[in-house]
Amino acid sequence: MPSLRRGLWQYAFWVILRLENLGFSYPEAELFQGVNLELDRGDAFAVLGPSGSGKTTLIHLVAGLLRLQTGEVFWEERPIRDMPEERLASERLRFLGLVFQHHYLFAELTALENVMVSGYLAGKVERKWAEELVARVGLEAKGMLMPKALSGGERQRVALARALYPRPKLLVADEPTGSLDRKNAERVMSLMLELTRELGNALLLATHDEHLAAGLQILRLGA
Ligand code: ADP
Ligand code: MG
Repeated sequence: MPSLRRGLWQYAFWVILRLENLGFSYPEAELFQGVNLELDRGDAFAVLGPSGSGKTTLIHLVAGLLRLQTGEVFWEERPIRDMPEERLASERLRFLGLVFQHHYLFAELTALENVMVSGYLAGKVERKWAEELVARVGLEAKGMLMPKALSGGERQRVALARALYPRPKLLVADEPTGSLDRKNAERVMSLMLELTRELGNALLLATHDEHLAAGLQILRLGA
């Protein structure tokens, strides 16, 4: 069916992420087949399934970190299958922010410097924006601290601010609260949802936790 989004208004309204008939197998096992998904601005989707169901594999396909088998991944309607590696890498920086279970912060940089780190690499640092993000994740008073002086939940909030710093269209999080207690997990989760709404990006979250996925749209794996 023709869609208005892909018609006249495509430049204003194109879909952020589209998965078309995505399938993936390892030699030992088929993980999933025929996955279809569309994420627009403000959409929050949970990839929900038990450990081993293929959530991380799906996330890596979406991020262009793993070679596609069947189907296609579209970043703002651009198919990524045949994108040259270099272009994929540069588009990824602009398009996508990643948060993992482990924070991967640089131990020798402050929280604020960790948030701005991609700015240093790009040769353009937006300190005000980084400070805004640090404040927005509730760490206004702690931007000058090193990661070792922060709690697990605080480190993960720094990792979230860092992922959002380049203003990605899509925030992708793979078990981002997997190392946190319930209270901190819920705080990180609600921040991700609030910021997705405020910044107008989309969220794709992989989790095994039904409770965390409550209120999100759900793509179930391993059912
Ligand atoms: P989840 O994130 O849901 O726990 P994964 O995507 O990490 O699932 O893994 C899904 C399945 O694929 C698991 O059974 C895992 O052992 C298998 N798997 C993951 N990576 C590889 C690999 N590189 N080679 C073979 N099998 C793999
Ligand atoms: Mg996983």
